[in-house]
Amino acid sequence: MSDDSAESSETSNFIRDIIDADLASGKVEQVVTRFPPEPNGYLHIGHAKSICLNFGVARDYGGLCNLRFDDTNPEKEEQEYIDSIRRDVEWLGFEWHSNPFASDYFDRLYAWAVDLIRQGKAYVDSQSADEIRTNRGTLTEPGKNSPYRERSVEENLQLFEDMKNDRYADGEHVLRAKIDMASPNINMRDPVLYRILHATHHNTGDDWVIYPLYDFTHGLSDAIEGVTHSLCTLEFEDHRPLYDWILDQLDTPSRPEQTEFARLQLEYSLTSKRKLNQMVSEGHVSGWDDPRMLTISGMRRRGFTPESIVNFCDMIGITKKNSTIEMGVLETALRDDLNARAVRRMAVINPLRVVIENYPEDQEEFFEGANHPQNPDYGTRQVPFSREIYIERDDFMEDAPRKFFRLSPGREVRLRFAYYITCKEVIKDANGEIESLVCTYDPASRGGSSPDGRKVKGTIHWVSARHAVAATVNLYDRLFDSPNPGAAADFHTALNPDSKIVMDQARFEPAIELTGNRIAYQFERLGYFISDYDSTVERPLFNRTMTLRDSWAKVEKSL
Ligand code: ATP
Ligand code: MG
Repeated sequence: MSDDSAESSETSNFIRDIIDADLASGKVEQVVTRFPPEPNGYLHIGHAKSICLNFGVARDYGGLCNLRFDDTNPEKEEQEYIDSIRRDVEWLGFEWHSNPFASDYFDRLYAWAVDLIRQGKAYVDSQSADEIRTNRGTLTEPGKNSPYRERSVEENLQLFEDMKNDRYADGEHVLRAKIDMASPNINMRDPVLYRILHATHHNTGDDWVIYPLYDFTHGLSDAIEGVTHSLCTLEFEDHRPLYDWILDQLDTPSRPEQTEFARLQLEYSLTSKRKLNQMVSEGHVSGWDDPRMLTISGMRRRGFTPESIVNFCDMIGITKKNSTIEMGVLETALRDDLNARAVRRMAVINPLRVVIENYPEDQEEFFEGANHPQNPDYGTRQVPFSREIYIERDDFMEDAPRKFFRLSPGREVRLRFAYYITCKEVIKDANGEIESLVCTYDPASRGGSSPDGRKVKGTIHWVSARHAVAATVNLYDRLFDSPNPGAAADFHTALNPDSKIVMDQARFEPAIELTGNRIAYQFERLGYFISDYDSTVERPLFNRTMTLRDSWAKVEKSL
């Protein structure tokens, strides 16, 4: 581990029980796992669950975990995705033992395919893709044997070699396992093992014009790497008999075992690379790392910490039953981590100018503010104060109800760290819009309490106008406003039109770093914020990572 971020995931689950039993019986000496993404997109929060499981198990049992790129679809795979996947796994705090490509094994896979043919357990089929599909049968009807099923071993060997040697066009032949066209499990009805595909591969270039399919590749790659526990999601349960069949026929360096667990499904989000890709290519977001995307890179940009993601995976656990996780779980994991970690500052996102008329014009003073209320190690900073300040527009109301404990005409409020102020006058522009306020302050209330014991209920944040830094703040919210966008016939209808609001008049206290150092801040009363990648000293740009409280609880109740 590069740090202790992933320390906490040692909760028990059925997979750990299996491993415990395998170690106790001596079936397994050292645990070896792998995380096997296809490099056809960026990793998302669902992948984080699999990463935490595979790497977490290996770490806790003193084992090894490989990051293996399952790259058997040359048309969809790209170097950009490979780089981003490596970066994301490292950022989450995990170290791989090795980082192979399934394509590194193409020679060995080919030799194994030849072995199957020699044994009479694979044949070259020359039906068209349509014929193969039709003859596969259905859940209720058995399939039909291919007319090419009884080709001789010699003929199959020759045809397969010719396929490899580029004698045929795409789709002319495939190599199929010879299992059982009447099997109740459709995956066992002579599954295709190899296809002809004239495509340049990111790793093997133009070396191959035939490519193995996932089911043939996966178990054999596991066996090459000595993977003991091949952990995958539930949709592969029906593929396990094929996984086992292939390993049973062939002489492999080791014998891995597949175990399935439930995919992460998260409310208000999509966890399908295909749909996320669509979001990017159609321009609904700025890229794979748009801070609203629940990709690992989007979450990083937004201000998630790796610890918050690992803790989330820990909280949801590993089960064998599919269920949907509430978004609140992820948000709570994030808030808990940021609450402990974030540096406290004051910023005003939607500013209203306040002139304190009895405060001397040329005077300034500094208040000492704790950088973290519970952690003295964080130290303090000096917060400047002067005659003109900005407060949040929401903290003023002209016709305020009795229970509005912030500022309104004639009422008094406490400025955090500083003084009590009382609103004397509201200045409006020609359109009747509130332009600024005139207030007075009570010098005796310095530090936030009054010697006469006068009670002031509300405390608001502020920024000294003269010392403030102008900034833009992006307020992010859920990308989708319906709980299950993936189920909608068209997920576009579930897009939240208010998922990004740009506030370009924000004002920060000067102690906020603008140099590109990504510090997690809590802006008091507003939420958690971090500088965006596009932020510069001249044009600061911050992302709101998360609000302080769940504003969706109310919305959901009304749904
Ligand atoms: P997608 O549908 O997004 O493309 P995938 O399963 O095809 O997902 P892979 O790159 O093949 O993506 O996945 C790598 C590993 O991550 C696999 O072992 C897969 O089971 C796991 N994984 C993918 N999505 C989830 C998820 N939502 N929850 C848990 N594990 C997941
Ligand atoms: Mg996949």
